[in-house]
This record gives sequence, C-alpha cells and structure tokens, in this order.
Amino acid sequence: MQKRLTLLGSTGSIGESTLDVVARHPDRFKVYALSAHRNGDKLVDQCVRFQPEVAVVGDADTAAQVEAALRAEGCKTEVSYGPQALVDAASSGSCDTVVAAIVGAAGLAPTLAAAHAGKRILLANKEALVMSGKIFIDAVHDNNAILLPVDSEHNAVFQCLPRETALHGGVSKIILTASGGPFRTREPSTLRRVTPDEACKHPNWAMGRKISVDSATMMNKGLEVIEAHWLFNVPGSRIEVLIHPQSVIHSLVSYADGSVLAQLGNPDMRTPIAHALAFPERVDSGVAPLDLAHIATLTFEKPNFERFPCLALALKALEAGGTASAALNAANEIAVEAFLARRIGFMAIAEVVERVLNALPNGSASTLDEVLAADAEARRLAGEFAALLTADAPQAERVLH
Ligand code: NDP
Repeated sequence: MQKRLTLLGSTGSIGESTLDVVARHPDRFKVYALSAHRNGDKLVDQCVRFQPEVAVVGDADTAAQVEAALRAEGCKTEVSYGPQALVDAASSGSCDTVVAAIVGAAGLAPTLAAAHAGKRILLANKEALVMSGKIFIDAVHDNNAILLPVDSEHNAVFQCLPRETALHGGVSKIILTASGGPFRTREPSTLRRVTPDEACKHPNWAMGRKISVDSATMMNKGLEVIEAHWLFNVPGSRIEVLIHPQSVIHSLVSYADGSVLAQLGNPDMRTPIAHALAFPERVDSGVAPLDLAHIATLTFEKPNFERFPCLALALKALEAGGTASAALNAANEIAVEAFLARRIGFMAIAEVVERVLNALPNGSASTLDEVLAADAEARRLAGEFAALLTADAPQAERVLH
C-alpha cells in the first residue's frame, strides 16, 4: 500500500534527501504535506514537483508569497503557517507517516503530535527526543505509534538489534561511532579562532549548519547518546562513543557472547532514510555501493573529552536526568546560533552550556510543561551568558578579527 507522508522540514538537508528517495519510488510513497520555515522558494519548487495537498511555512508573509507562486504555477497545494499548522499536518488523518526533519526544539510539538496520533514516525529531529525523553517514548507506546530512527548511528543500531525487544537481554553495549568532525586533529589552543564556515565544513557528511556545528563540538554525539538511551532503553553507562574518522561503520552492537554486529555504508543519509521509509522492506536509495577495497583502511580511537567538552557535558546531563537534557539542548541551540552569527567564539559554546547547566536547578521532567519551562529558562540564561561572552573584548576580537 502506498505510504502517505508528511515531511516536516522538507527544505533542509534531511528533507531534500528524503524527497530524493521518495522520487525514486512514486508507487510506494505519496507526499501529503511539506514544510519549510522561511525558504519559500525551495518549498514552491518542491510543491510543484511533488504536488502535496498541504504546505506549511513559518509566517504569514512567507505563506502569502508561497501561495501566490503556487497559483501562478497552477499548483493547488493549500498553504498554511505557524506552529499549529505543523501540528495539524503531522496529525492529519490524511497521512500515515511523518518524517520529523525540522532542526531543533521547534520540531517537538509536531513530532509529539504525530506520536499522539499513532503515526509511523521517522525521527531525524533528535532534539525533540532529547528534550522530552520519557514523555515522547510514552506517547509512542500509548498510541501505538511506530518510531524508526533516521539518524545514521541509531538507524545502524536499530538494524543490528534483534527485532523482538524481549531478546535485548543479550546486548552488552551499544557503540556509537563518530567521525570526530573537522577539528579531530586540530591543536586545541587554536580552536578559539575557528570560523562558522570552518566549523560547518564536515569531512564526510553534508548537513545543515546547526548539526554541522554540533558535529564539530561533538555535542551532536552527546545528543545522540541521549537519543540512543531513550530509543533503545539502554542506560548511558552501556553506550560508548568511538571515533571512526572514515564514517563507514555507522554504529555497532556488542553482545554478551562476544559478537559485535555493525552496519556499514557510504556516508549518505539516503541509506538510513530509505531503510526507515521502506522498513521492513529494502529499496534503492540511490547511494553508491560500498567499496571496501578502495577504502582499504578503517581506523578507531577514543574520544578526547578535553578537546570536546560538549560531549562530556551531554553525558553528565544524561546522568543527571530530569530536565538537564532539555536545558543542555536549549543552551546549545542558543550558543550555536550565537556562534553562527559570530557573536561568540567556538569554545564559548561549551562555556555557555556549562554555565547554564550549573546555574539552572535540575527539576522533574514528567510533564511537557516542566520540560518547556526548563527549555525557556535555559534559553534565557544562555542568551545572558552568550551576551557576557560577546562583551569579553579579547574573545570578541578573536572571533570578529
Ligand atoms: P537543516 O538546517 O538543513 O533544515 C532544517 C529544516 O527545518 C528546514 O526545512 C527549515 O526550514 C526547518 N526549520 C528551521 N527552523 C524551523 C522552525 N523554527 N520551525 C519550523 N521549521 C523550521 O537541518 P538538517 O536537515 O541538517 O537537520 C534536520 C534534523 O535532522 C536536525 O534535528 C538534525 O540534528 C537531524 N539530523 C540531520 C542529519 C543530516 O545529515 N543533516 C543527520 C542526522 C540527524 P527553512 O529551510 O525554511 O529554514
């Protein structure tokens, strides 16, 4: 049966990769809704090509522009805007599958709505799960929703785990691989001076700017440890991070009998996206076959927590429980935004996050209101700390030189 998709964040890197796979299988997938925030031009192109019933954007002006452009093209797609429109598109009875590919906390409400509506959710938006943890997982279980990981590491782990959850007893460890990003071998004392463009130049993956910076600080891997904890119900103590610069092994599962299962492939998000879209079947993703003889060497090393303090902060937040992960995520979003806007330096990202975690009392995260309150307070504090660091003259000089 043809799957009907709502693609949240269709104009982003994951969104475009998803549409690339979808276009290869028009018999299997039909696009019901697409969403962008401000990139109306790209959304119009996508609507003309995929003819969704609904398109959602961030504000009224963008909606008016998109609507005018679509009508000029003779495209009947209905255009709406704002957070409630995203929730409506994600929970509509006209779709069965929701690809959650909005970046950051903005993706939480529609992704949670998809869980409440019992959808099949293809999760790329790790921040939504990091923030809401148990609330999100409970919503999935209580409403018979299906959660399929798109993040390449978690998709790899999913592929290496036994299908029946009751058999998870034999799993001793989950090993998440990490490329180490663009600064893996860079002299730590020079990291203060790196520019946003340098931080976004990932050696193996082409991604949106926020996740690219997260990869450079390794906060991304920290968020992924928290994501893995919730997805696979495994304590942080049994999730290991392993640097693997070639990004060929996407993650591994270690079993009690000494077996280690791994999933390999070229670093191209269309593989995990195609896996999750077609699961449990396998379909062509457009990704070139892996040529191990050509790659020849796969290497591994332990992460350096001094070079990557964000990774250590994320592990600490997971251990702390409560609202710490939501606060970590919110502070990181604000700090990365400030770095990308050249208001703070690269190493100040970790500093802002650490200050927020130290300043904000950790509370209960059993209701969405508690999580959203912690998120809001962490954003406020992070903004204050980032402003203080911006005012720090030597730092500002180094960043803005
Ligand atoms: P991009 O920045 O490329 O795209 C983000 C998408 O979200 C765009 O469609 C953007 O719209 C939309 N968006 C941004 N802000 C808002 C908002 N406030 N409200 C609604 N929509 C918004 O990100 P990526 O595709 O790289 O990443 C998306 C998610 O997937 C992230 O959570 C990331 O961590 C995760 N992920 C990404 C991977 C990758 O390879 N890129 C790998 C694994 C996970 P617009 O274009 O109009 O700004």
